[in-house]
Amino acid sequence: MMRCDRVWRNARLATLAPSRPGIGAIGDGVVASKGGNIIYAGAAAGAPAFRANDIIDCDGRWITPGLIDCHTHLVYGGNRSAEFEQRLEGASYEDIARMGGGISATVRQTRATTKDALLAEALPRLDAMIREGVTTIEIKSGYGLRLRDEMKQLSVARKLESCRPIKVLTTFLGAHALPPEFKANPDRYIDKICNVMIPRIAETELADAVDVFCETIGFSLQQATRVLAAAKKAGLAVKIHAEQLSNSGGAALAARFGALSADHLEYLDETGAAALAGAGTVAVLLPGAFYFLREKKCPPVDLLRSAGVKIAIASDCNPGTSPMTSPLLVMNMAAIFFHLTIEECIAGMTREAARALGRFREIGSLEPGKRCDLAIWNVGDLSELAYNIGFNPLHSRVWGGS
Ligand SMILES: [Zn+2]
Repeated sequence: MMRCDRVWRNARLATLAPSRPGIGAIGDGVVASKGGNIIYAGAAAGAPAFRANDIIDCDGRWITPGLIDCHTHLVYGGNRSAEFEQRLEGASYEDIARMGGGISATVRQTRATTKDALLAEALPRLDAMIREGVTTIEIKSGYGLRLRDEMKQLSVARKLESCRPIKVLTTFLGAHALPPEFKANPDRYIDKICNVMIPRIAETELADAVDVFCETIGFSLQQATRVLAAAKKAGLAVKIHAEQLSNSGGAALAARFGALSADHLEYLDETGAAALAGAGTVAVLLPGAFYFLREKKCPPVDLLRSAGVKIAIASDCNPGTSPMTSPLLVMNMAAIFFHLTIEECIAGMTREAARALGRFREIGSLEPGKRCDLAIWNVGDLSELAYNIGFNPLHSRVWGGS
């Protein structure tokens, strides 16, 4: 007799356990939790007898690990809907930038918004994610671009965790864009990031990782190298926005620093893919930005598959290029635009997303010892998660066993 807190029985499981093929499906499965962790997840046949306070009959519903959105910019001030309208009327990015729009508009608004107001603006977005089964989310800074406002953004992201039943991992993205104060001298801003901002953010434990936007319109390979080196020196994990608009060598840089993930990757080449595979760096694909910007170039998914790179997918929730708060729509878009299989879509928002955050030991699959974060779905087949557009079949969500 195994003592536990709760048992979910009569369920179909997508365990995502790496020891099983594909998504690790089990037809007649049981999950048992104790102290917030999974103590059993497997077939009903052969399961021990459980003594539980609570036994839940799932009526044959599917259970997946709680969804993980491993790349978002969820905390920001204002929005860019007016700019969206200008774009629809034919304005170019250059026009919009000249009128004070684009990322600098969000920087101005984020700087001018108080902590409380930023929190109030972020909560409805977070709630939308939670309603579709998200149990862990990564949130980046990058709209403050000066120490106090970057710290403000990160502390709001941390605070969200005490407002809702969700795990938040934070990433310092000071190297997102050049702040207006440093327009004439980008390297001085990089000095500031490396010598002042990263050490301070590491010391205050406001961030779990550091990210950099390595791109022709972002920071050069050399500048990105300095940022990643400073992050490593401060003991922080690293990630990188790479090869989104051009092949800048960001993937190879990510591999050199053992980055957890390299994100976007539309312009990734064979050398870059081999480097990611060698370093075990996860490729994070972001179909929302591809869609919203009406991009034409897809990330090279076949290349990633043949090189053996793990593929995660994420919302990239941000006000400029992907104002999206639906993990289910991320799956749909990844299938439609990037030709990911259903299994890749599901693994991309569970197991591989956990890997992209360096947390696969704790979350991302239904295995004993992991946190009991579950999403229970009213679907006959798991393909319905990626098939429906704008329909939410979540039955219930379990976070830490309750
Ligand atoms: Zn992003």
